[in-house]
Amino acid sequence: MLGLLAAGATGAVLTGCADDASPEVTPAAEQIAGGTLPPTTGPTPPASPSAPSAVVDGNQAMRRLLEGNARFVAGRDEELDEGIARRVAVSKAQHPFATVLGCVDSRVPIELVFDQGLGDLVVVRSAGEALDHSVTGSVEFGVAELHTPLLVVLGHQRCGALDATIKALDSEQRTAEAGELGYIVDTLAPAVRQVARKPGDRLTNAVHANVDLVLAKLRQSPVIGPLEKSGKVKLVGAYYELDTGKVHVS
Ligand SMILES: [Zn+2]
Repeated sequence: MLGLLAAGATGAVLTGCADDASPEVTPAAEQIAGGTLPPTTGPTPPASPSAPSAVVDGNQAMRRLLEGNARFVAGRDEELDEGIARRVAVSKAQHPFATVLGCVDSRVPIELVFDQGLGDLVVVRSAGEALDHSVTGSVEFGVAELHTPLLVVLGHQRCGALDATIKALDSEQRTAEAGELGYIVDTLAPAVRQVARKPGDRLTNAVHANVDLVLAKLRQSPVIGPLEKSGKVKLVGAYYELDTGKVHVS
């Protein structure tokens, strides 16, 4: 993703990973979309449940994600679509169908919980889904340059980043945070403050409030907001339950 800034006629735009971001469907992608693996010289793996299908809008993309999560919850026995044929197919072009912003938590690997393979998802992760210029820009890259029709912000049960923010605010230890950890606390603090008087579990409430706040901020992006308004991208908040593996749509 380095060296991607290029001055376009209408302003500075990201041009994608080399020539990978072309919206044109390649012959290989057409074959994949039609359920046929492209010819390769290597061994052909068995068909995977994560084999791409023709996703044309956000609702279809969301359905595909939730079907993948259901396979994950059920404990699928097939291989993820990360075999040789798939690797070769996506090596020249990528057509991911969703951008997902999630936490860095080691228990919430995005591709695994949605049972998706190579080239399927644009994944952006930061502690507590905290936004900064790089995170927001990466999300914008997914929806605007790689043309994903769906953007999911995925919070999760017992998020350590939000829990640490609660503790920092309660103990007024914010200034003691080393490095950039204080930035994370500052960024997540509004969600914690918003649920201060809300009944129920404080951390769970903060996770949900944070997803809503992140979505609201992303909607203010001059790139993402207009794409949502024109119907080109659907924005969805979701919550991953560590106990069950289930993703719940907000
Ligand atoms: Zn987390």
